[in-house]
Amino acid sequence: MAKSANKYKNSVSDIHIFQNKILSWYDQHARSLPWRAEKGTPPAEAYHVWLSEIMLQQTTVSAVKPYFEKFLKLWPAVHDLANATQDEVMHAWAGLGYYSRARNLHKAAQVIAFEHEGVFPDNEKALRALPGVGDYTSAAITSIAFQKEATVIDGNIQRIFARVMAYDGLFPKDAKHFKALVAPYFSGTGVRAGDFAQALMDIGSGICTPRSPDCVQCPIVEQCRAHAVQDVASYPKKAAKKKVPKKQGFVYIVADAQGRLLVERRPETGILAQTLGFPTSHWQEGTTPAHSDLMYDIQETSHSITHVFTHFHLTLTLCKARVQIPNNYLWLDVDAPEMQGLPTLFNKVYNEISKTV
Ligand code: SF4
Repeated sequence: MAKSANKYKNSVSDIHIFQNKILSWYDQHARSLPWRAEKGTPPAEAYHVWLSEIMLQQTTVSAVKPYFEKFLKLWPAVHDLANATQDEVMHAWAGLGYYSRARNLHKAAQVIAFEHEGVFPDNEKALRALPGVGDYTSAAITSIAFQKEATVIDGNIQRIFARVMAYDGLFPKDAKHFKALVAPYFSGTGVRAGDFAQALMDIGSGICTPRSPDCVQCPIVEQCRAHAVQDVASYPKKAAKKKVPKKQGFVYIVADAQGRLLVERRPETGILAQTLGFPTSHWQEGTTPAHSDLMYDIQETSHSITHVFTHFHLTLTLCKARVQIPNNYLWLDVDAPEMQGLPTLFNKVYNEISKTV
């Protein structure tokens, strides 16, 4: 049976050998990252680990580095971040995407600063109670900042173990069963719990990559069942994906007599909540949506932008228009600093505007 635990079990001594190989590899090859402690120094601060892990969700290391450094410069400690306004945090986050992360980051900083007296909780349960902190992030902070054993599984680490075990379960359906199977590998790492997790992160991102794993360089190649049967490409096995809906809408480029552009503060809830953006129609799947009632003299252009959200793809057609009721709207100069802080969707629109004139 595919989900039989015995099929995937390894002896304690095999797991011990596996851990030693991973840790020896890390001693030689650990990536140097701004949020990591250097070898032989005390563990990284929980604030740094938390900040980096929130930023790294769905985002690459190279994209995160400048934001991490900017945040630490602006807010060197968690109480500094807690005392910032939400607008300041959103503005600093602009361009990194998935804006609910920034709102949760700010809320969590306030919980830590004002309810935990600025001290990060050092266990998974209490960390999971913070806004925006889930199973993976709480386990990562526990092991990296506090050197406590925790089962740290993100997409990269899942891929490694699915291949090492030649795991036939399907993701995400069998993720819970898989986590229980993998847990013994994280047990017994002691004060090196954080190094073990970070080594797996490095191997997952640099060696055991999704499409072309470099098994020759892999420290655990001898333990890898998928490699042994030369079937690495089959793991991890994923359940068939649902089709991603495609939505469409209009975005309005409205200029006043001085050439300033109209932007709006988006609603408090929903997608891109509270960020600045150009006004749009409704976004809908299937049929073309109606134009916004507030716009007139609308000229649809041949220019459009597309953007991929987690649950749908969006195409917005750029329209020149005039506005009837500029309530809740702002006029901004084309080169106003706020234009540099637009979320990626509206930054794409901004970059497209010059092509429509
Ligand atoms: S041997 Fe290859 S497939 Fe197996 S864990 Fe290492 S890199 Fe991944």
